This record gives sequence, structure tokens and C-alpha cells, in this order.
Amino acid sequence: MPIFDQDAEQMDRQELAQLQLERLQVTLHRVYKNVKFYKRQFDGIGFLPEDCQSLDDLPRLPFTTRHDLARAYPYEMFAVPLREVVRIHSSTGSPGNPIVMGYTCRDLRAWAKLAARVLTAAGVDRDDVVQVTLSYGLLTSAFGIHYGVELLGASVIPTGPGATFRQVQIMRDYRVTALVSTPSYALVLADQMDDQGVDAKSLHLKVALLAGEPWTEEMRREIEARLFLTAHDHYALSEAMGPGVAGECEHRQGMHLNEDHFLPEIIDPHTGAPLPPGELGELVITTITKEGVPLVRFRTGDLCRLSFDPCPCGRTTARLSRIAGRCDQVVIVKGVNIFPGRVGQVLANVLGEDPEYQLVIGREGHLDYLDIRLAVREGLFFDKMTVQRTFLERLTRKLSQGIGIRPRVKLVEPGSISRDRETSPLVVDLRSLA
Ligand SMILES: [Zn+2]
Repeated sequence: MPIFDQDAEQMDRQELAQLQLERLQVTLHRVYKNVKFYKRQFDGIGFLPEDCQSLDDLPRLPFTTRHDLARAYPYEMFAVPLREVVRIHSSTGSPGNPIVMGYTCRDLRAWAKLAARVLTAAGVDRDDVVQVTLSYGLLTSAFGIHYGVELLGASVIPTGPGATFRQVQIMRDYRVTALVSTPSYALVLADQMDDQGVDAKSLHLKVALLAGEPWTEEMRREIEARLFLTAHDHYALSEAMGPGVAGECEHRQGMHLNEDHFLPEIIDPHTGAPLPPGELGELVITTITKEGVPLVRFRTGDLCRLSFDPCPCGRTTARLSRIAGRCDQVVIVKGVNIFPGRVGQVLANVLGEDPEYQLVIGREGHLDYLDIRLAVREGLFFDKMTVQRTFLERLTRKLSQGIGIRPRVKLVEPGSISRDRETSPLVVDLRSLA
């Protein structure tokens, strides 16, 4: 299988470490000089950029959090004057201030190259027709991939999300070979094909690049079986850049991280202590080439493992395991990690609309239970009981498949769960009250 940037992706590890150190030193000097936040952080521990003599000095530095980035709204984290910034993206800012990302020309060129690496690793080449169903807008998701596809010389169809009927038409009529979407939207497309009577086998799909939410090997198998393609995981981190940070090669044993641009660490999310390779912990990223908004020891909140074992594909870069979830959101029920956002995705898929829901976790005797309170349209309460029962059974089945344990679904009146998380928290854990 081809490798987009052999010099970088197959670099000797010692040579890579030297390059990383040089780039890290440059980054630390730049942020110390140009970003007040970092000057304060470094001064706070009496650290000068020239104190960084080896990569082992990195863990001496304080972390950067999403909270820090939001507090710097809008431009306080920028390490270059605004006139050198050619693109601005931002998060939605819910809750709190949005996180604003600025890119210089050089940042954008690097971004396209890194996305092209990830696309090539997934098997996309210039003969492919790539349908991008991610969001084109303030978020980074679609843009990173978009320019990577163009740089490869493949054809990109920027459909953006939604209008699923038309997506399927385009996929069939334009002979799309590669799909870029979230894992759950890939399944929505499969459902839509069933509804439209389109046989996925008759399409030209070959590969899918999926990311944007935690997903499982079971989902991968289902997507592959229903869409007749090979599904690849990749890692998009909008604060660090967007898509292009890491992606799976043909062996699909972890995502190759573009280590010549991003320094990874895995830490214990509770203590902040570094963890050895192979341990599950929070991913921390330091950007070492970014000009617009460089990040030093940014806590991603994503749980994963890091492996430095050689990969048969020939790339020498470290691999990230599948993202196991978010450390600030995960709740453990019956020993299973439950991600409230995943529950929302399953509900949205079944209902076809954005759900109002709440997770209530408690304990009866020695056993944990998970109740999902779901506000539904009035109609459902007046329908025949059998209709409601069938609906509940289907919903419970989908949820069990999606989250790994069987919840109890309780329908409640519309409007009884506020979208304001202050008054209706997404998760109510009664076990902590016992
Ligand atoms: Zn590989």
C-alpha cells in the first residue's frame, strides 16, 4: 500500500526524536514570546524555553485545558498577529465561550498534507470519488479532509451533512468510492438505502473514513457488512488542527499519529501523571509545527492507549488505539463504560430527531440500573398500548446494541426534560447519594 509522505512516516525513530525536540524548542520559544497565557504558565514554575534540553523535559510543563482556550476568547491564544491568519474556525461554545482556532497559510498547507497521509493510509488515491458528509461550517471537520482529498488528486463531493435521500442518490449516480462521515451517519445511510430500495452491493463504495464520536468494533462490522466497504478509523482533534492528526493503515491496529507534527503523551486523568505505553489514559497533545494557535500539553479529554510497536505497514509512527470515550463524561454502570453522548446518538438514529433525554443511574440491592428518560411527542401516549410497547422494545434493543447494557426506557411528557443542563443534568447518578 502506498505511503503519502515516506520520508516523514517512515522516519528512523532516533531521527524523529531529534526533529521533535528541535520543533518543540522552537514552539516553546514562540509561545513564550507571543502568548501571554504561556508566559504566565512558564513563569509560574520558573521555566524558560531554553530549559527544554530533551523531550523528557516536556512533562515538567503545566497542562493546557479547553477551559483555558475558552477563557482566551477570542484571540488571546493566537501566537501570530491576526493579519497572518488566513482561516478561522471555532467550536459551538456550548457551554461557555467558543474555542477559536486560527490558521496561517503554512498551517493550512500542513493540514492538507496530513489529511492526505490519513486518506492514503486508508487506501484512498487519485482515482477515488470522495463524498464528504461532515459539517462544512465553523467546525473543522469537513474542511481538513476536503483539502486533503484535493491534494491527493482525488475528486471530492462536498455534500455536507443531512438530506440523506439525496446523499444516497449522489452516492449511486456519481459512483462514489469513498465515504467520509461519522460512524452513526454511515448507519443512517445504510437504513436510508434500505428504505429507498438501493442495494449497497450495486454501488461503487470501497472505503469509509469514520470519526467524530466514540464507536466500537461491532459498529465497524455492521457498517462494513451493510455498505460493502472497508471502514477506517481516524482521529480529528479540532483544537490541534482537525482531521489529519492520526489514522489507521490497512492493518487497522491503531491509528498512526503524525508524530512529526504532534507530540503525544498518555496521562492518568485523575493525577495527571504520565503513563507507560499500552496503558489506557487521557491523550495529551503538544503541537510542534502549528503557527496560528500552538498548544503545549493540551488535555484532549479522550481516553486511549499509545503503542510504539512496529507496524507491518512500514510506518514508524506511534499508534493510538480506538478512542474509548471521554474522561470527563464517562459513567460506569454494571462495569461498562457508558457515554451519555452515545445514548443520544442512538436515540437520534431511531427517532430521526434530536432527542430530549436524561440518564438516571441507581442501585437496587447490589445491582446497578440505567434508566433513560425520554421525552416523546404527545401522539405516542395516545396510541394503542401495543404500538407503544413495540416502539419501546425496538428502542431498548437498539440502545443495548449501542451502549453494551440493557437500559430501562421511560417515556415522559414532552417538555419535562429541560435542554438547560443546569436544571436537567444529562446524568443523574443516584448511587453517589446513597
Ligand atoms: Zn500501519
